[in-house]
Amino acid sequence: MITIGLVLASAVWASRESDLAALDRQRQLVNGRLDSQIQSVAYELGLMANGYAITINGVSSSGDLDAFDSMAFGDIMTSVFKYDEAFVVWSDGEIAIKSDSETANRYEWIKPLLMPMLQRSVQAEALATPKDGSTKTSDSVELMRLQGRPSIAGIVPIHNVGQSVRGRPLFLIAYRYLDGSALDALSRDQGLNGVRFARSSDPEANEVTFQIEATATNEPIGFIIWTPELPGSKVVVSMMPALTISALIISILLGGLVFLLRKTLAELQDSEQKARHQSLHDILTDLPNRALFAQRLEDTISQHDTGAPPAIVALIDLDKFKAVNDTLGHAAGDELIKSVASRISILVGGVDTLARLGGDEFALLLPHMPERNASYLELCNRIVDEISQPFSLQGGRASAHIGCSIGITIISASSQTASGVLHAADVALYEAKSSGRGRCVEYADNMDASAKLREGLKRDLRDFLDGVDTIEVESPNRPAVIPAFGLEVFYQTIHRADDADRISGAEALVRWRHETMGLLTPDKFISLAEDSGLIHRLGIFVLMKACTAAASWLNGALLSVNVSPTQLRIPGFAGEVVQILQRSGLPPSRLELEVTETALMGGDEAIVKTALAQLRERGVQIALDDFGTGYSSLSHLIQFGIDRLKIDRSFVRLLGTRADGAAIVSAIVALSQSLGLATTAEGVETPGQRDFLTAAGCTDLQGFLFSRPHPKPDMTYGIDSDAMIAEPLRAANQIAATSARDLI
Ligand code: C2E
Ligand code: CA
Ligand code: CA
Repeated sequence: MITIGLVLASAVWASRESDLAALDRQRQLVNGRLDSQIQSVAYELGLMANGYAITINGVSSSGDLDAFDSMAFGDIMTSVFKYDEAFVVWSDGEIAIKSDSETANRYEWIKPLLMPMLQRSVQAEALATPKDGSTKTSDSVELMRLQGRPSIAGIVPIHNVGQSVRGRPLFLIAYRYLDGSALDALSRDQGLNGVRFARSSDPEANEVTFQIEATATNEPIGFIIWTPELPGSKVVVSMMPALTISALIISILLGGLVFLLRKTLAELQDSEQKARHQSLHDILTDLPNRALFAQRLEDTISQHDTGAPPAIVALIDLDKFKAVNDTLGHAAGDELIKSVASRISILVGGVDTLARLGGDEFALLLPHMPERNASYLELCNRIVDEISQPFSLQGGRASAHIGCSIGITIISASSQTASGVLHAADVALYEAKSSGRGRCVEYADNMDASAKLREGLKRDLRDFLDGVDTIEVESPNRPAVIPAFGLEVFYQTIHRADDADRISGAEALVRWRHETMGLLTPDKFISLAEDSGLIHRLGIFVLMKACTAAASWLNGALLSVNVSPTQLRIPGFAGEVVQILQRSGLPPSRLELEVTETALMGGDEAIVKTALAQLRERGVQIALDDFGTGYSSLSHLIQFGIDRLKIDRSFVRLLGTRADGAAIVSAIVALSQSLGLATTAEGVETPGQRDFLTAAGCTDLQGFLFSRPHPKPDMTYGIDSDAMIAEPLRAANQIAATSARDLI
């Protein structure tokens, strides 16, 4: 807009400048015209004076000027030279040539006005040097007001009259009014529009004036007024429509551009805001994410005043969420997470932050807890209750029963760090989960000690496995140096049900002989190994040890080794097992891998299936451990190709304590039998249990009744050539599995 303004302003300025220049030129023209008139008057008068001089010369010999034809004289001046009046006068102003009385009268009127000019001429004439004949200095033409009209009057001496007539010099005086035909000529010659003469300066709005000044007095004697030709204004006026339209178009374009820019800017700001929101919020639930939670936690801690009411941080972890995800699919899992988020959101207040940290983990920041009616523990317990209520999913077609565990910590000083607070809440959460789930646990200092202990154990386990690996790499053929502390493998014998004296196999059970904590059972470190990614190395260590040991067993008993769900998903797991069998010299048919039902689920099922199929192809047997505690799914038994069911000891314990215990165990054994699978009952502690299980049809029994896990079991006991009890059943198993698959 400024540019357009500048263009317009410069156009106007340029036009004004050009107008002024044109006006100046027009004034100069008027001025020049007046000058040339003055010059022509001087010239004409000089010419006439010479003519008169000759004429009068003839007359003057008689000395009588009266004989001169005054009429002819006047006619020449007025009609030929267009003077309004001409007189021949003596130097004292007396008229020298007689005229008619009217002319004489007019002269008498005008004489006083002409006298000063005459006197100046007379003086000049007297001063002029007659010898050189130059008399030009005494010629005089002036602008003056005569009879109220601007006139151009001239006076010139008539010479060559023998210097004088009757001894007195003669002068020719003539004048012409400027406002009549002279003005017309000016207008015609110079092309001035509507030129007119005025006695006073009274121009119209678009007219200009030129002041004519009396030559002698410099007083104004009249004004020439005309409408000036203004080329600049003309150009501007002719350009104006085009300029206006251009300015309008440019303005519209600029306006459009500004509008577009603003729109784009608004869109940019909008998408920036969206991006910022997305970067700080969870996509699924739209709750604050980990980053935003961390930010708010930092703020809460730094703004915490000493003595102010404490703030609360609670970490919420869903129990059994994975099972829902695995059985009902990810879409149902997402739906469940959303429902959980909305249930908790209803319970917490507007100033609180409920965030989703990822997966099935939520976090709660309660900045002003004590200002509420309910205490924070009450709130957390209500959350636990709420989440334990069933969730309806997939439009009511499915329902999920989950639960949650909550770890709580209190922010009571601004010196605390966000990571410290989160660590404390995490420790409390771990405590809640490990002490039975579905609970709220508030952080206490001694928990930190146990957390530290876990960290220490993790480190020790890693150090041990690193050491073992080094030994393996450095001397693969040399028996490994057994460290005084570290992982060891115990074996619990498994007995034939029909003849408990006969050992059919042994289960390898890992132990950790810890430098300071003594002998640790797997419940103290298996989950640690899972958490820290050491479980595969641990499993390989046990497998290597157990296979090497079993290869030396004289009775040819079956070796059972526990395999964690993670291990089954490691690419090349089957190949590793085969390699270990080759290195240890144990025939594949003497190895049985125990897997749990959860290991068969939870994604990557194809990998698990392939691994198990490869192993079975080699002759390795697969047992389903802890059967009855998981999904107890018939389709799992068939799909994955299972050789044996191990009835969990929680069912065996029911025998003799609960009425329906026998029915449950009988049903499991019947199922196993109908699929042609071998059945091992775990945790047999009493002869009654043994007898019932044998009668029910279990093929093998395991429990403290027969033996406890031992580092060096007596494997010579009950040598039996057909100890590998599962083997003969294998063919029948496959036939049954095929027919069951057909049924399903
Ligand atoms: P599991 O596979 O069910 O192993 C049987 C557990 O039952 C053993 O506990 C054993 O000592 C115990 N047990 C045997 N008979 C009786 C009985 O009559 N009464 C009672 N109350 N318990 C009995 P352990 O050795 O503490 O092992 C616990 C769990 O640790 C195992 O349960 C298994 O899941 C896991 N585990 C053990 N060794 C390994 C391993 O090398 N790798 C993996 N991934 N897991 C292992
Ligand atoms: Ca087992
Ligand atoms: Ca078991």
